[in-house]
Amino acid sequence: MTDVVWRPEHDPSIRPPLEEGAVYRPDILQVIDNAIDGLRGDLRKLSLDIHDHPELRFEEKYAHEAYTAFMESQGFVVTKHYILPTAWVATYTHGQGGRVLGVNSEMDALPGIGHACGHNLIGISGVAVACAAKAAMEQFGIDGKVILLGTPAEEGGFGKVRLFEKGAYEEMDMCLMWAISCPGIKYIRKTLRN
Ligand SMILES: [Zn+2]
Repeated sequence: MTDVVWRPEHDPSIRPPLEEGAVYRPDILQVIDNAIDGLRGDLRKLSLDIHDHPELRFEEKYAHEAYTAFMESQGFVVTKHYILPTAWVATYTHGQGGRVLGVNSEMDALPGIGHACGHNLIGISGVAVACAAKAAMEQFGIDGKVILLGTPAEEGGFGKVRLFEKGAYEEMDMCLMWAISCPGIKYIRKTLRN
């Protein structure tokens, strides 16, 4: 077992329902773990690439190209310039019906200090979640859809609000986003070190 995916047992203060087969499914977590572990090198490369090309809000052209190319390589259906010029959407559908999982990937940097607040890490985390969900859906035959949104202009541009107003989130049953905080940072650091 790797340590890529954070698990409830890593934190003794968290008490989720741990009975196997209920909400907590270690077998699905293992597939998620393996999928992200397999992408570790590519995700790190993508993160550093975005970090080396900081772009301000609504100017995320490099990130737009890098992320959409990556998601295409992972078997997602990609729509470039989705609603906003630098927004994009990558979808994966398995079977028919089921739940729709939404995920956000931030892209923009800050004036003068680049990716100081880590949108490159938030971005690749969204990619990792979408790819891992796809792997689990394939492996366990789970019908549903994953929608990964590349969301421009988090820093003062209300990128997600604009996308929301145009219906980008309408189809989703839930929507996830990762941001840098504890305990996640501990594991991200560990992952990047490796
Ligand atoms: Zn930020």
